[in-house]
Parts: sequence; C-alpha cells; structure tokens
Amino acid sequence: MEINGKTRTCGLIGCPVEHTLSPVIHNTLAAQMGHDLVYVPFPVQPGRLREAVQGADALQLSGLNVTVPYKSEVIGCLQEVDALAQTIGAVNTLVRTAGGYKGYNTDMEGLYRAMMNEGIRLAGERVIVLGAGGAARAVAHLCALKGVERVYLLNRTLERAQTVAEEVNRTAAGEVVFPLLLQDYDVIPEGTYLAIQGTSVGLSPREQEVVIADRAFYEKVHTGFDLIYNPWETTFMRLVRESGGRAYNGLKMLLYQGIIAYELWNDVHVPEETAQVVYGKLKEHFVKKQ
Ligand code: NAP
Repeated sequence: MEINGKTRTCGLIGCPVEHTLSPVIHNTLAAQMGHDLVYVPFPVQPGRLREAVQGADALQLSGLNVTVPYKSEVIGCLQEVDALAQTIGAVNTLVRTAGGYKGYNTDMEGLYRAMMNEGIRLAGERVIVLGAGGAARAVAHLCALKGVERVYLLNRTLERAQTVAEEVNRTAAGEVVFPLLLQDYDVIPEGTYLAIQGTSVGLSPREQEVVIADRAFYEKVHTGFDLIYNPWETTFMRLVRESGGRAYNGLKMLLYQGIIAYELWNDVHVPEETAQVVYGKLKEHFVKKQ
C-alpha cells in the first residue's frame, strides 16, 4: 500500500508485542476492504500506559488493541467504557471519540463468533471451563449470557475461581457457575460436556504441558475448545481427539476479535468471505513460522 498524509493509523499496545499476529489481520482487512489504514504494534513499558494512551490520542490514532498485561489497567485511562467490557472488567479495543478513547471487549464476542462458525452452540449446554484468568472470566460471562445450563469453573487457585463464579452468578439469573479446584475434576457429574481450555498451560514452547492429563477426564468431553492457537494442536486438543471428541484451537477467536475491532474502528460490516481470506492469511503466516 502507499502511505500518504491521509493514511489513518491503528495499532496494538502491550508488552511484549513482538510476536503478535494482529498486523496480519488488520493490514489484510484494510487491503481487502479498500481502506487507507495501517496497523502497527507499539510496545509499552510498565508504568507508561497512561502516557501511551494520551500520546495515541494526541497523535489521533483511530483505534488501538490492548493486550497483556494492560487489559484491566487500561480502563482507568479511558473516557468511556462499554457496558459489556465494564462487566467483564477487561478492555481489548479502544475507539477514538471526540473526548478520548472508549473501551470495548471484543474477545468475548470473538469467541462466540468463532464457536458459531464451527457449529458449537452454548444454549442449554453443560460446560467445563479450565482457568479463571482474564480470558476464562470472559468465557464464564459469555456462557451465562448465552444461556448454558451450568459451568464448572476449574482453577489452580480456588479463590480466583470463586471470585469469578460470584461475579458471574450475580449478573446471571441464578447459580450458573460452580467453582472447583483443578485437581477436583473427578467430582464433575457423569455426562458429556463442552470443555473450554482458558489457562496459559500448553503454550509454545511448553506445548507438551496440559492442565489435566488424566484420560478419564476427556471421556466426558464431546467438544474441546482451546483458546491457545500456538501450537496449532495443543496437548489438550490431542487428548480430546484421542477420546473421540472434536477439538478446536483459538485462531478463529483471534480472527473474530480482530474483525469486530476493525468493524468498530471503521463503522463497517466485514463480510464472511473477507473474514475467510484473513483466516487464510493467518494460517499461511502460521505455517511459515513452524
Ligand atoms: P491470565 O489472566 O494470566 O490467566 C492465566 C490462567 O492460567 C489462570 O487461570 C492461571 O491459574 C492458569 N495457569 C497459569 N499457569 C498454570 C499452571 N502451571 N497450572 C495451572 N494453571 C495455570 O491469562 P489470560 O489472559 O486469561 O490468557 C489465558 C490463555 O488464553 C493464554 O494462553 C492466551 O494466549 C489465551 N488467549 C487467547 C485469545 C485468542 O484470541 N485466541 C485471547 C485471549 C487469551 P491461577 O489463577 O491459579 O494463576
């Protein structure tokens, strides 16, 4: 593309940002949609987040994504926060408005679109969520919002799971989320479940690691969705598949959270064919890195 005086800039703030795939998503989208827009990652050192957000506003950056470790901290730097992002307590997308940035959370809707795309339904489903960090918290909110029957939320640190469960149950119609210690997975009643892996265990290069190694656990899983996408197939996914279940990685969640951010920045709808072109680019990029 040709960059000129009218080119709009969007970007990513976080620490680190070196390995992000977001430029592939947004620069491909800009080319496909015919927008004069460029997307650049900006590393922000701890303690400098407020300055970075103010500087971005002064430079008139149209939009930003926010990644680890700033998704919660950034809320204090914003002009306004969307109600859903406020409920989840995490913001991953900033949209520039007249008075400063407004924060949104597109991770949750991104996961939902990814699941819809794979034919995974949440309404009436029994779900196991592994983890109680930022991503798993958003997953628990999503489950309650979309009418799952119940969620067993398992975490290494029980208090964190209890906090998320209390928070979600307060906003839901009743007791939907049941917190458990990770090692107590065998108390989950017999039946078949959708299991969503939301811990950071199994991320490359420690891809042989998995939070639950017991094959008996996977007998209860009809579908496994790992939020991790690097490696392409995590040990969690392999164990689900080997027990006869369907397994998916988190690349489509990444794709759709990016697409929703792009839609907010440009006030457009990205057609599904364009989304699939971007997904193809992401996969290509991924294969190159292997
Ligand atoms: P986070 O807030 O740091 O939470 C990490 C979670 O992992 C916590 O539940 C933590 O348990 C658990 N954990 C860490 N090490 C563990 C260990 N050795 N044994 C057992 N549990 C352990 O991270 P996050 O932002 O939620 O991200 C979690 C994962 O989701 C990451 O892999 C990230 O790449 C992925 N993610 C993917 C997307 C996407 O678009 N596909 C988007 C967001 C996140 P404790 O509470 O006990 O510490």
